[in-house]
Amino acid sequence: QQAFDIEKIRKDFPLLEQEMNGKPIIFLDSAASSQKPAQVIDRLNDYYRTGHANVHRGVYQLSQEATTAFEEARELVRQFINAPSEKEVIFVRGCTEGINLVASSYGRKFINQGDAVLITAMEHHSNIVPWQMICEERGAELRVAPVNDAGEIDLDALYELLDERVKIVSLVHVSNALGTVNPVKAIIDRAHELNIPVLVDGAQAIPHTQVDVQALDADFYTFSGHKMFGPTGIGVLYGKEEWLEQMPPYHGGGEMIKTVTFEKTTYNELPHKFEAGTPDISGVIGLGEAVRYIQSIGYENISRHEHELLVYATEQLEQIEGLRIIGTAKEKASVVSFLVDGVHPYDLGAILDKLGIAVRTGHHCTQPLMARYEIPGTVRASFAFYNNKADIDALVAGINRAVLMLK
Ligand code: PMP
Repeated sequence: QQAFDIEKIRKDFPLLEQEMNGKPIIFLDSAASSQKPAQVIDRLNDYYRTGHANVHRGVYQLSQEATTAFEEARELVRQFINAPSEKEVIFVRGCTEGINLVASSYGRKFINQGDAVLITAMEHHSNIVPWQMICEERGAELRVAPVNDAGEIDLDALYELLDERVKIVSLVHVSNALGTVNPVKAIIDRAHELNIPVLVDGAQAIPHTQVDVQALDADFYTFSGHKMFGPTGIGVLYGKEEWLEQMPPYHGGGEMIKTVTFEKTTYNELPHKFEAGTPDISGVIGLGEAVRYIQSIGYENISRHEHELLVYATEQLEQIEGLRIIGTAKEKASVVSFLVDGVHPYDLGAILDKLGIAVRTGHHCTQPLMARYEIPGTVRASFAFYNNKADIDALVAGINRAVLMLK
């Protein structure tokens, strides 16, 4: 771990040196997808130029080297989240696939007529729709724990909804729309008192905070590579072996089998049982490099710097007349969602774009949460450790200019 040198870190990210609409880009949309350091880009390039072959198959050296690189990345990820075993680290396309895998596989095995699944009102669509689908299929009920005005889960209400009919709890660690950091450990402990497993959607937590799946005692934890400075199309599902062993395969095909006859197929060991077909080899290797990169910066540095940015951005934005921040939880990570009186989020986003400032506008794949606040959407600025105070100053100046034009 090195000293935190923001200017040096920014130079690792080639995209931050680009322009958008002829202006130096101010990138404030890392919650949608983060930018990539040269270390990750170079590793992908190097793999395709010198190291590509299919994994787990060839007897020849190149294939064995690719397999080694692939499995080394799995070990890196295992250590990164402190999973007890590599068997519990499954590569998936991203958080969406991780949740669908659990909803479908765990659901078919453990969710029956009259059972319930418990989620919260601040979930991303990817942590709502897969549960709706399996609940409909199995005749189960989808329960939703409410959120208060500040954007925090109403814990008393959540605990009320937690009874023996609930077969799984699935909730977000950090809200992509509001930035709220949820007390997942307390919720997991409470669910475990009733032997109910918990899935944590860690898409927005992993880029900002150290995650230790054993300390959390999470039964499932999933995240996407592209939000943590790695490639798109790759992600991780951690699952406790005791659950994964009992769950049926999600996809059928090569790699996930031990023997196949037309009469009966036997399945491969974990984690391969859940990794049918040729995997995203370069994605996995790139993800491993992203893990190395994060570790070289250090989560302590990341958290401290991002907290400073969040405090600064909140203070500066609050000074803009008519600006209202949506999501004022005590515990927040690098997201500020807001609205300006009399200004449509889309119009504001479009003017900011012309100024070279990338923010997200809309419902952020959380339509029920937006409905909770009776708003169509927000403007969302989200940070990573490569952002600096100058980015926030540019945002504030941009909003002031846009508001003058629009009002
Ligand atoms: N959950 C949360 C909280 C997210 O922010 C996102 C991505 N916006 C997802 C799930 C889905 O991740 P992906 O699209 O990478 O599968």
